[in-house]
Amino acid sequence: MLRLDSSSVRLGARASDKTDAIRQVGQLLVEAQFIEPGYVDSLLAREQVANTFLGNGIAIPHGVPKDRDLIKTTGVAVLQVPEGVEWNPGDRVNLVVGIAAKSDEHLQILGNLTDVLGDPAEAARLARTTNPEDIAARLSAGKQTPSQAAAAPLPEDPPRYFDTVITSPHGLHARPATALVDIAKGFQATLRARRGDRVADAKSLIALLNLGVASGASIRVMAEGPDADEALGALRAAIEQGLEEEEAAAPPVEAPSVEWQGLTLAGVAASPGMAAGPVWQYQRGKIVVAATARDPAAELVRLDRAIEAAKRELAELHQGVETKSGAGKAAIFKAHAELLEDRGLINATREAVRAEAFSAGHAWEQSYSRQAEALAAKSDAVLAGRAADLRDVGRQVLRLLAERIADAPKLPQTPVILLADDLSPSDTARLDPAYALGICTGAGGPTSHTAIIARSLDIPAVVGIGDSVLDIPDGTAVVLDGNSGTLVLEPTQADQSAARQVQADLAERREAERRACYRPAMMTDGTRIEVVANIAGPEEAAKAVEAGGEGVGLLRTEFLFLGRERAPTEDEQLAAYAQMIQALNGLPMIIRTLDIGGDKSVPYMAMPAEENPFLGERGIRLCLNRPELFRTQLRAIFRAAAGGPVRIMFPMISTLEELARAKALTEEVRRAVGAEPVEIGIMIEVPSAVMMAEELARQVDFFSVGSNDLTQYTLAVDRMHPLLSRQADGLHPAVLRMIERTVRAAEQAGKWVGVCGGIAADPLGVILLTGLGVRELSISIPSIAAVKAQIRGLDMARARGLAKRALACAGAAEVRRLR
Ligand code: PEP
Ligand code: MG
Repeated sequence: MLRLDSSSVRLGARASDKTDAIRQVGQLLVEAQFIEPGYVDSLLAREQVANTFLGNGIAIPHGVPKDRDLIKTTGVAVLQVPEGVEWNPGDRVNLVVGIAAKSDEHLQILGNLTDVLGDPAEAARLARTTNPEDIAARLSAGKQTPSQAAAAPLPEDPPRYFDTVITSPHGLHARPATALVDIAKGFQATLRARRGDRVADAKSLIALLNLGVASGASIRVMAEGPDADEALGALRAAIEQGLEEEEAAAPPVEAPSVEWQGLTLAGVAASPGMAAGPVWQYQRGKIVVAATARDPAAELVRLDRAIEAAKRELAELHQGVETKSGAGKAAIFKAHAELLEDRGLINATREAVRAEAFSAGHAWEQSYSRQAEALAAKSDAVLAGRAADLRDVGRQVLRLLAERIADAPKLPQTPVILLADDLSPSDTARLDPAYALGICTGAGGPTSHTAIIARSLDIPAVVGIGDSVLDIPDGTAVVLDGNSGTLVLEPTQADQSAARQVQADLAERREAERRACYRPAMMTDGTRIEVVANIAGPEEAAKAVEAGGEGVGLLRTEFLFLGRERAPTEDEQLAAYAQMIQALNGLPMIIRTLDIGGDKSVPYMAMPAEENPFLGERGIRLCLNRPELFRTQLRAIFRAAAGGPVRIMFPMISTLEELARAKALTEEVRRAVGAEPVEIGIMIEVPSAVMMAEELARQVDFFSVGSNDLTQYTLAVDRMHPLLSRQADGLHPAVLRMIERTVRAAEQAGKWVGVCGGIAADPLGVILLTGLGVRELSISIPSIAAVKAQIRGLDMARARGLAKRALACAGAAEVRRLR
C-alpha cells in the first residue's frame, strides 16, 4: 500500500505563482528520491495540456506519461500553502499534491483525495494544520484514526447550527440522505453536517453517506452564507419529520408457519410468500473495458454521455416502479441518480482519464469501486450496505462504457428460484415475476431496496442467508419460505407438500378472483362499475384483457415517446395504437394525448428548464404550443380509430379555453383524416377544472379524475417530493370533496366519471369512490381481478354511508381509520 510519508510534506510554504508552487513540490519529489530533476519540467508540461486543479483548494500536478522513465519510484509529496496560490483564474490552491507515478498505485491517494474533496471542512483543516502527520495520515488512510482526530484541532464550527438526532430506523442511508441533499441543494449557503470529528458537505450524497450516521446518532448541521437560517430551518424540519418515506420493514403478514424437516438455511424474511422449484444462479456478465485510450478528450465526452444516458435509464426505472408501486418504492432510483451527480466521483474519474490516459470505463470503474470500498468498510452494517447502491449505479454507467460484456447474463426462461450474492435494485426491477418464483440472496437485509422491490413485484424473497447459497448447483429443487426467511435444501416429501399446501391456500383466493375476473363488477344492489386498465405500451393491451380488464381507461401515450432519440412518426404511432385496438377486440380504449412535462421530460424535445415544471408547460399546454406534434398524434389516433372503439382524453385541462382550443384542433384533424367522430373526455386533475366542472361537463362526453395530480395540486404537495410525497394521500377529504363536486357536475350534465389515479385500486378508495358516484375505475393490470372481486362484495348503501363520513373527516388519517 502506498503511504505518504510526513517527510515528504512541507508545511507553511509560500508560492509566488503556480509555476513556483510546482517547482517547489517537484523539489520535494527530487529530495525524496522519487524522480530525476528533469521530471519537474514534465510536471510543468502537464499544466499546458491539462487542468490539475481538483477543487476545494487542492491540485495534483503530475508529469506527462512519456517522461515516466524519469521516475525512480512511485511517490507523492505535498506542499501546503496556507495563504494559497492562484492555479487558474478564480481557483486558489492550498494543498499541492505532487505525484510521480510509475503505475497506478498512486490512485489510492487520489481516492483518498476525493474523500477530502467531498468535505470542505476537512480540506480547510489540512490547509492549515501544523502537523505534517495529519496530511500524511489523511492521504494515506483516507480517514482519521481517533487519536489523530484528537491531536488535530478541527476548524471552528460556524455560529449558525443545530444539533439533532437521526431517528430514521436505519440511519442516514441513501434515501434519507438523498432527501437531505435535495433540500440542501436548494440553498446558496454552505451546508455541512458533522458527526463527531467528521464533517461532510451536506450537498454531496457520498460525503453524507461517508459520515456513517447510524440510527440514534447525533449530528450537527451547520450553515454559512446568505440564506443560512432558512436552510437550517428547512433541514431541521425535514429531519424532525423523519426523512424516511418507505416503511423499512417487511409488512406484517398473517402467514402460516411451517416446521421444515429438510436441511434449512436461515436468512431474513424480505418479501412474503412461498416458492418451490429449481434454483438458478444469477450471474452478472463481466463488463470488459479498455485499460487505456489515446484521446482523453474523446473519453471525457464518452464519460459525460454515459452518465447522462444512465441518468435517463434511472429516470425510466423510477417512472416504471412509481407507476406500478408508488413513489416510496421508486425512491431508490432517485437516490441512484443523485449518486451520479457527485462531483468528487466524477472529478476523480476525469482526472484519471487525463492524468493516466485511462479509458473512461477503466477510470470510472476505479473511482466508483474505491468509493464503494470506503463505504463497505463502515462499521454500521446498514450504511455499509449502501456500497451496493454505488456499485449498482456504477455498473450501469460502466455497461454503457463497455467494449463488450463477457458471459452476458441470461435471464431465466423457465420458472426458477434465483440465487445470487446480491441483486441490485435495477437487476430486481428488470426481473419478470413469471420466471422468478422467488429470490434468495447471500447478502442484504429486509430494508434493502431489493427487498422493497421484490415486495412490490410480489416475489417471495429471503436475503442475507450467507455465501453458501452460491454453491448450490443449478436445477437443485428447494423450497423458499419468504414468510419465515428460510431456504429449505433437500426438502422432504412432507416439506414439499407443506409448501404446496401453503401456496395452494394463498393461491386459492387469488385463483378464485382470477377465475371470476371476466365477470362484471356488479355491486350487491346491481350497480355496475367498469373496471378497466391503465396501460403504457402496445404489449400491455392483451395482458389487460387477459387479466379481466373491460377495456383501457388510460393509455399513457407519452411512454411511446420515452427512451428514444426522436418522436415516433405518425405511422409508428398508428401501428402501436392499431396493435392495442386489435388486442382489445372490441373493448373500448381511452387514448390520453401526450402528457409530457412535469416529471416526464423527453430530451429530444428540447424543453426549456422551468422553475416549477409541474406548473409549467405540461400536458395539453405543451401540445397546444406545439401544434404539429399534437396534430401528428391526433392523425394517428383518428386513423387507428377505424379499427375499434376509441375515445380521446386530454390531460391537465385547467381552463375552458384550453379545452376549446384542443377540441378545435382535434375536429380540424378529424375532418382532414375523414374519420368518424369519437367521444372526447378530459382528465380532471387541476382544482380549477373541478371548480369549472359544470361548464366543462357540457363540452365533453366524460371525465376521468387523475387523482395523483389532483392530490398534488389540491394539497400543494409535489408528488415527487422526497419527503412530502407521503403526505399526498388521495383519500384526504379535500381531494374527496373535489371528486364529489366533479361527480355532481357531471351527473347534472348527464356525463359519467371515472378515476384513473392510484386511489382507484386502493381497497378503501374503491369503496369511497363508488360511494361518491364514480362509475369507472382504471387501474394497473395486476389489481384488476382483486378490485372486481371486492366490488362484487360491496353494498352501495354502505359505500355511500362511508363516503359521506369520509367527506366530513378532518384529515386523511381519520379517513383511513373509517370502518
Ligand atoms: C393522475 O394524475 O392521476 C394520472 C392518472 O395521470 P399520471 O399519473 O399519468 O399523471
Ligand atoms: Mg396526471
